This record gives sequence, C-alpha cells and structure tokens, in this order.
Amino acid sequence: MLRFAVFATLAVAAGCAPRDTADLVLKNATVYTGEDGRPRAEAVAVKGDRIVFVGSSADAARFEGAATRVEDLAGAVVFPGFADAHYHLSGVGEREMTLNLEGTSTKEAFLAKVKERVDQTPAGAWVVGRGWIETFWTPPVFPTRQDLDAIAPDHPVMLTRADGHASIVNTRALEIAGVTKATPAPDGGALNKTPAGELTGMLIDRAQGLVGRHLPAETPEQLDSMIVIGARRSAELGWTQVHDAGGSWAEIGRMRRLYQAGQVKLRIYKAVGGPSPDADSLLAMGRSIGEFGGRLTIRAIKTWIDGALGSRGAFLLAPYADEPGSRGLITVDTTRFRAMLVKALERGIQVETHAIGDGGNRLVLDMYQWAFEAVPRGEKRADPKDPRWRIEHAQIVDPGDIPRFKSLGVVPSMQPSHAIGDLYFAPSRLGGGRLVGAYAWKAFLDLGLPLAGGSDAPVERGEPMIEFYAAVARRDIRGNAGPDSLWHPEQKLSREQALKLFTGYPAYAAFEDDRRGTIAVGKWADFTILDRDIMTVPEADILGAKTLLTVIGGEIVHRAQR
Ligand SMILES: [Zn+2]
Repeated sequence: MLRFAVFATLAVAAGCAPRDTADLVLKNATVYTGEDGRPRAEAVAVKGDRIVFVGSSADAARFEGAATRVEDLAGAVVFPGFADAHYHLSGVGEREMTLNLEGTSTKEAFLAKVKERVDQTPAGAWVVGRGWIETFWTPPVFPTRQDLDAIAPDHPVMLTRADGHASIVNTRALEIAGVTKATPAPDGGALNKTPAGELTGMLIDRAQGLVGRHLPAETPEQLDSMIVIGARRSAELGWTQVHDAGGSWAEIGRMRRLYQAGQVKLRIYKAVGGPSPDADSLLAMGRSIGEFGGRLTIRAIKTWIDGALGSRGAFLLAPYADEPGSRGLITVDTTRFRAMLVKALERGIQVETHAIGDGGNRLVLDMYQWAFEAVPRGEKRADPKDPRWRIEHAQIVDPGDIPRFKSLGVVPSMQPSHAIGDLYFAPSRLGGGRLVGAYAWKAFLDLGLPLAGGSDAPVERGEPMIEFYAAVARRDIRGNAGPDSLWHPEQKLSREQALKLFTGYPAYAAFEDDRRGTIAVGKWADFTILDRDIMTVPEADILGAKTLLTVIGGEIVHRAQR
C-alpha cells in the first residue's frame, strides 16, 4: 500500500502522461461545472462517452495524443448539457416540416410567409402550419379566413396557433370539412363568428377537429422524419436531452429503429400517455433504462388531471375571476387513475401528471399521497428509491400546498416561458390573490426542492435561452412584465438557480443525477457550448446567446456555422 502511494506520487511529479489519451479535449473556455466544490474550470477531456478530466487548459494538454480531437474554444462558455424536462419531440419535428410560423412580428409578415408556402404547393393540396402568436404582432389582431382566401383561393389552409388551442382556416378548408355557420360547435370548442354571424375561420380548442380530421394522415416516413428532424433541431438549439411528455408505444418502436440506424443522437427520456392500453403495456413489460448507450430511457407515464388556463380548462379551487360560473375541468377518470398509480409504484414506473389549476394540483397531490400510503415503501414497491413522481406545470398552486411537494417528494416540472406568455391573461382569469402561488418557481426552490425546467415545445418555442431568460427576468421577450405589480417579481430566479433548472434538476427528475447534470469526472460527456457568458452578461443580452457546439456522450452533434 505504502509502496503504491510513493509510486503514484512520483508519477504525478514526473508529469507522466496519463495511461490513456483523450478522444476529445475542450480548452481555453469558461467552464461552469455545476459542482459546488469546483464551480469553474477552463478545460475538459473526454474518453469515449465519459468525462475524464476537468481543470486548467495547461493540465488538459496531458490528455492530448495524436488521435485526440482538440477544440480550442477561444473563450466560449461550456455548460453541463442542457436538458428540457417537458418537450414534445415529434411536435417540434412536425413544426419544422410543416410551415413554421414562429417569430413573425406583424400579420402582414405572417401572411407573406404563408403565401410563399402556398406558391410552392400544388393547387388543391393542404397547406398546414403552426407557431403564430398574434399577441406578438403589432397590432395584436387575429387573422381571418378572408386574409387567407386572398393569398390561397385554391388551397385548403390550416394554421395552428403556437399553443395548439386555436387554428385559423380558409374558406376552402371549411368547404372540404363541410363546416358552415350552421354547424354546431362541439363540446369544449368554439367557432368564432363576426357580429353578423359569419364564420371568421378561427376554430377554438376542440372545434379544430372539425377541419383537422380532414388533413391527410401522416405516412410512416413522415412520422420517422418528425422524430429525426425534431431531434436534430433540438440539438441545434443546445438541448442534449429532452423529456418527451407523452406518446405511444408505436412511437417508441420508431425511436428504437432510428437510434439503431444512427439517425437520432439526442438523449430522450420517454413517457407514454396514460391511462391507456399503451401505459398498460409499459406497466406489464416494465421500464427500460439506458438503451443505446444511455440515449433512450422509457420509465414514465404522462397523464393529465385538467386542461389549460387560457381556455379555462384548468381546474380551480374557486371559480374563475372572469367566469364566475366555472371552476374548469377534471379530465381523468379518478378511479382508473388511482389503479394506474398503484401499478406504477409496484412496477417502478414514474408518473408525471399535467396539473395547471390549484384544484388540479391539490387533487394530484391527494392521489399521489393516497398511492404512497396504499403501496408503502420497501414492501411492494419495485423501486426502493424515491419514486420521484412529478407534477407537470404545477402552474397555479395554493400556497398551503407547496410544502406538500416537499413532504411527499414530488418534483415540480415547470416552464418559465409559460409564465411570460400567460402574464397577459392569467391576472384576469385568477384575480390578484391567486397569483401568489402562480408560476411560483422560487417558492419551490426555497424549500430545497429540485425544480425540473422545460419549455413544453412546440407549445412554446423550445429555445433554452428564452427559458433561462424568462426564469431570471420574469418578463416577456420584449421586456414587458405585465400588469404592474401583480406579476410577483419575488419569484425571479438567480442565474445559478436558472442553470440548475435545465441541467442538474432534470437529471434528478430522470434518475440520472449520478450520470449527468454537472461536469465532473466519470459523468457522461454532455455539454452545451455558448458564444457568451449568460451567467454575467446584461439580462437583455441573454436572448442573443448562440449555441456553438452541442456535445452528447462525447460526440459533437451540432456545430454552428460561424
Ligand atoms: Zn406538454
């Protein structure tokens, strides 16, 4: 023992090269490790898919061999690989493949983008798009079917708002669907009309299905492309992993085939939607952890307790301030839900439940608590560890219920961009009093809870810098903080906290905190490398940060054109 220690000391003193050289060295960078003991470094070295060194650029040189790829980052900034804890991967791919209408600033610019696509599309074929948000336009007015008819008289057109809760269609699309002003709106939907009773072409919530069901079904090739293109786009944005919130068993089969073929590099933490036959399949077959070298894990069921706040579907403890007759909707059969919870605990399957309203959140906490008592730890549970069940959105929570997340070990999974999108209507839906527990990120962190951050893309744009900025600024991307003092600036996060929302905490929520989420020797070599230091630049400059490199498992999967 003593002799070994002396030998080891001599080897280091003599500056001997390590036994193995690295495959990849990143140096001359600012490295934020996310590790408390060593928060900053200049360089990292990678062997295979693991980090083997974190330290100075001079010391990193010891790992450089003839076959080592050395990236001189010239002052760029390295972060632990960003993870989005609430994402819809195929939806992101679909947005790229159809007409992507994000980021327009006037109705005219939006229509110009649509016309360009119409001109490239054979007459009679559908033009489908997503991503417009009229509140970003000057002036903020809804488009009409006549706007679309003027540029697309011969093509059916359907363009969905970014949040998925409304679509604008043209007259040709209404004709194909057989929808007229006499058509009744389905439950949970509306057909907007002019004061004279004519259809405007705006279809709200479930009324979108009246036209949507006439769209041509996706081919298997298109479904594959949605995953491949969505994964590529995610890596370009800087994500190294996404938690895919829902989906089917068939989709998992596609993902496996695409990983096998080397077409997907992004890490995916996959849930299936439930209660459903697909969720029953997962419960029967059991979880699958770390397929394809840790790229694909299937161990969660995504479920929904209520609707959304904008359409007044969120389930509230007291009526809506702007619709006193309504408390919203519970969207799950609670008997079936409880049975699923018991099986999930027995089988070691994580449950992640969408809950927006304070009533929805309390109901989920009550049911999780009931399940934890029905299947006590250590007896019938497959997983001896904390089940780390999650509440997705945890958007409006009664302040008295926030400590229950801590006592039950429930992980809040929240989307900073929802707060800056909702700040225009949440105060009127809720009234001022209930905003205390709304989008209350800091209240959860102050209790010591891990808070998994996400974007809910394509509901939101899915860009890490928008999420990071929203978390620290609590303002929209134009710098507006909403109706004066109501928007609770005390819930703003520090940049250190915001970084953990997209690194360490999603790793915890995916049971991967021992493998990813920080930059440390032995962990997976996942890095997001930016052109500027978002921990120190002025707040407004955060949004302009560019992802230069995205590294997943030691592999450079995206490099920006410079
Ligand atoms: Zn979602």
